[in-house]
Amino acid sequence: MGKRTKQYKKLMRSFEFLGFRQPYQVLMTSDVLLDTLKIDLVTLTEKVLSTKSLKPMITQCCIRRLYDMNQGPDRNPAVVAAIERAKGFERRRCGHLMDEAAKPERECMLSVVDPKGDGRNKWRYIVMTQDEELRSKLRSVVPTPLMYVKRSVVILEPMADASARVRTREELAK
Ligand SMILES: [Zn+2]
Repeated sequence: MGKRTKQYKKLMRSFEFLGFRQPYQVLMTSDVLLDTLKIDLVTLTEKVLSTKSLKPMITQCCIRRLYDMNQGPDRNPAVVAAIERAKGFERRRCGHLMDEAAKPERECMLSVVDPKGDGRNKWRYIVMTQDEELRSKLRSVVPTPLMYVKRSVVILEPMADASARVRTREELAK
């Protein structure tokens, strides 16, 4: 087993200690889909998370962003392909009314991952996004495994300090 695989395995064990269960729910933003059309995203993500049961998910606003990009005369085939892939994902209802304009993805994701705004990842979502600002904000929503894709490599970030502190506290409480 490679060094990185071992690290990832250990990391996911820590997250399981904090309540994550398989099948892991992985919420993805539209930029991930657009950036990964040439790779088998779900299989590679399963490998990184050492699991065979993964539930890729997308919020209504994130898929709507793709539909919004797919309008007008100059359609981008990459957007069409991203939509096709997203259709195979479980749709996460986010409660942002469908007759309004879609919410910015960042805002939508934050409201889904941390519904009460108290810095807790209530439903234990893993988040995969290319949006660094969103990942940065989610580092203080605990516990949240954060992923992104760089040069076709799926990456799982080390546990954020805020999550690691919760883990230490829970361990001491045992
Ligand atoms: Zn939404």
